[in-house]
Amino acid sequence: MAVERTISIIKPDAVAKNVIGAIYSRFEQAGLQIVAAKMLHLSREQAEGFYAVHRERGFFNDLVGFMISGPVMVQVLEGEDAILKNREIMGATNPKDAAPGTIRADFAVSIDENAVHGSDSPETAAQEIAYFFQPNELCPRTR
Ligand code: UDP
Repeated sequence: MAVERTISIIKPDAVAKNVIGAIYSRFEQAGLQIVAAKMLHLSREQAEGFYAVHRERGFFNDLVGFMISGPVMVQVLEGEDAILKNREIMGATNPKDAAPGTIRADFAVSIDENAVHGSDSPETAAQEIAYFFQPNELCPRTR
């Protein structure tokens, strides 16, 4: 296992439910550190750029509309195996399939509004971190 960084986004549905702190607790309980964070109300251009890989999918316009419907909380998580660990804490994309005790099982109601995003590979993690943060905005504890 290596120390990795990954992007987490608490989506508008979870921000509206006032569960940012509850979700942060799950990251911390799993041994992940929040090394950068910002609250943003994404523009359409920002959301379309972030989800560009899904541009041809039927759900793209609804996904973008949802992601700009309210503020999101974007954070960089750091820790051993952070990318996979975050995906495990999040649970399956469709909350109906998410394991009990995962964020999506506990806080999401539908595949369209599923509470959190997490990078799915080292390559996308690097791209997504650079999409939202300048290098000097990361604050690892060891610096
Ligand atoms: N999504 C959706 N409808 C679908 C599939 C995906 O609205 O049928 C949305 C959902 O919000 C999901 C996002 O598109 O989180 C990205 O999809 P992906 O398959 O990458 O899932 P994730 O990595 O977020 O679990």
